Amino acid sequence: MRHPLVAGNWKMNGDSESIIALISGLCEMQCKAEVAVFPPYVYIPLVAEGLKSSGVSVGGQNASEHTAGAYTGETSCQMLRDTGCQYVIVGHSERRSICGESDSQVAEKFAAVAAADMTPILCVGETLEQRNQGETLKVVAAQVEAVIDCVGLDGVCAAVIAYEPVWAIGTGQTASAEQAQEVHQAIRQKLGDTGAKTRILYGGSVKAANAAELFLQPDIDGALVGGASLEVGEFSKICKLA
Ligand code: PEP
Repeated sequence: MRHPLVAGNWKMNGDSESIIALISGLCEMQCKAEVAVFPPYVYIPLVAEGLKSSGVSVGGQNASEHTAGAYTGETSCQMLRDTGCQYVIVGHSERRSICGESDSQVAEKFAAVAAADMTPILCVGETLEQRNQGETLKVVAAQVEAVIDCVGLDGVCAAVIAYEPVWAIGTGQTASAEQAQEVHQAIRQKLGDTGAKTRILYGGSVKAANAAELFLQPDIDGALVGGASLEVGEFSKICKLA
């Protein structure tokens, strides 16, 4: 039995006032799923302190693959750990497309997160063009393989994987439950028996209205939620459905 996880990626949104309001809403939330939120770096200490006794975990949206040194503007895994993070998202499609992160750099970041005793959430997913060309399973398999090549199968299976079709992120267009399940099942088959307990989340315009059907799928173990995680009422409904 895999314990569902709902992860809220706040991206580059919020200010002290709105984040304090989110913290108080999260503190009142009650659900059986594990919940984690991913604030912008500068607010991590505030959120970690505010959620200390709530049971909600905190994570980073990204981390440097380097441990320390002359990397202006970067944040190390050790710093994230030190400020209260338990998870770090690696390979989000916005970082792959906007910041040019390659599969191998994503794999190095994954290794750095695990080495700092945090759990990576590895994002994988195809573009609309790749889906239309029938390349979805091949693209996703290559993204997972790049990380297996770097840290080994056990390392990947100890993490969380998030299948996030690029065309569904922030677009309001969700993959159907069947489309998502097909990819989740293919990822689980790739991991073999070692991956039986690995949580595979779905991400891409998840809302309370579409979450229940997604969560019914046998290989969907929760969600990575962007926009809807900024509205505590909506996020709380999603968490309760998981
Ligand atoms: C995300 O940023 O990972 C995401 C899934 O965003 P949204 O829920 O807004 O599509």
